[in-house]
Amino acid sequence: MSATARLPRGRQFFANPGPTNIPDSILKAVAHVTIDFNDPAFLAVYDHCVAGLKRVLRTEQEVFLYTGSGHAAWEAALVNLFSPGDTLLVVETGYFSESWAKMAQDLGLKVRTIAADWRRGVDYAAIRAALAADGAHEIKAVCAVHNETATGMVLPLTEVRAALDAAGHPALLLADTISSLGSIDFRMDAWGVDVAVGGSQKGLMLPTGMSFTGVSAKAMAAHAGSRLPKSYFNWTNMLARRHKSFIGTVPTSLFYGLKESLRLLEEEGLDQVFTRHARLAEAVRRCVRHWSGNNGPQLFCLSPDRYSDSVTAILMPEGHDAEAVRRIALQTFNVSLGGGLGRLGGQVFRIGHLGDLNEPMILGTLSTVEVALRLAGVPHASGGVDAAIAYLAEAARGG
Ligand SMILES: *Cc1c(COP(=O)(O)O)cnc(C)c1O
Repeated sequence: MSATARLPRGRQFFANPGPTNIPDSILKAVAHVTIDFNDPAFLAVYDHCVAGLKRVLRTEQEVFLYTGSGHAAWEAALVNLFSPGDTLLVVETGYFSESWAKMAQDLGLKVRTIAADWRRGVDYAAIRAALAADGAHEIKAVCAVHNETATGMVLPLTEVRAALDAAGHPALLLADTISSLGSIDFRMDAWGVDVAVGGSQKGLMLPTGMSFTGVSAKAMAAHAGSRLPKSYFNWTNMLARRHKSFIGTVPTSLFYGLKESLRLLEEEGLDQVFTRHARLAEAVRRCVRHWSGNNGPQLFCLSPDRYSDSVTAILMPEGHDAEAVRRIALQTFNVSLGGGLGRLGGQVFRIGHLGDLNEPMILGTLSTVEVALRLAGVPHASGGVDAAIAYLAEAARGG
């Protein structure tokens, strides 16, 4: 069954889990005239942004920034810390943990994976066991994706930290916070994270093109002994520069945007930002749970204590193609949804609910998805949006 494609009119509802909607005030801030990146006026903005980014990361340690998407910061973390043949322990969460592990292997590192069911999440006991079994301390770091954007599941980093501490294991803790930072609570220093990897185009609501790493003192010590080749990403080279980051031209426009992003986040208050994300995420989940009633699409994540508040992955009923639903949503109604990544292609579609988002945007998206399910002939219990409405009304009353 198909639906008619239409010319896009009105505003596109962008419901991907990254990149995310860019608020108008950030769009305006990014449209800044060219300025010398050593101009004192820009240096003041730059220093303000780095200090603000540290507050969002909740760290008082180093931050290095890169012109490049999140993958660049992934690579920077690896090449700055390790030597050829070093072993990493990667906690399997989904497509993004697999991709980071593959990058590590491409760079000449050995990877041990703690296997996990993508729908249920890793068994913490397996992390503890792997670390306890490594009495020789071959494992140099544990790599954990805080929020697995492909599955809509959180990996509680405090559990990973506790596993390291219980084993008395000295491995570094590397956390990918690309789709959690600025959306879900993250505390680099308090949680003992040694490297926190973040990007511009998700919770920070900026255009794509800048990424960064928070780096602990312990990680800086490991950096001093690392032998993987590096140049553009070399933290030692960066520290020698005024900006203490960026080899080459600094993307000044993104810093004017980041200044506005930090202003928005701190005006609302990070805790309120997290509460808003949790509220909108729960509305999406109530809706999907209702749809599932008639052998319809269901929540991909089967562990309620690990639901992601920044993205929900929705599993299609057997024999129905998620891409057909996405296509109708986009071509007929101008609603952009996330697709299934890697082995989840065609089986899953994703609703991003992070960044610059409110109730009307979520309700508009959910309503349109329900229309698309009808048009695509996908079985579902109709009225899922009513479940979201009831929840949002209750939440707004303070219930
Ligand atoms: C988006 C994302 C990445 C990749 O970042 P890019 O900016 O696309 O390179 C890595 N990890 C997670 C968890 C992500 O959501």
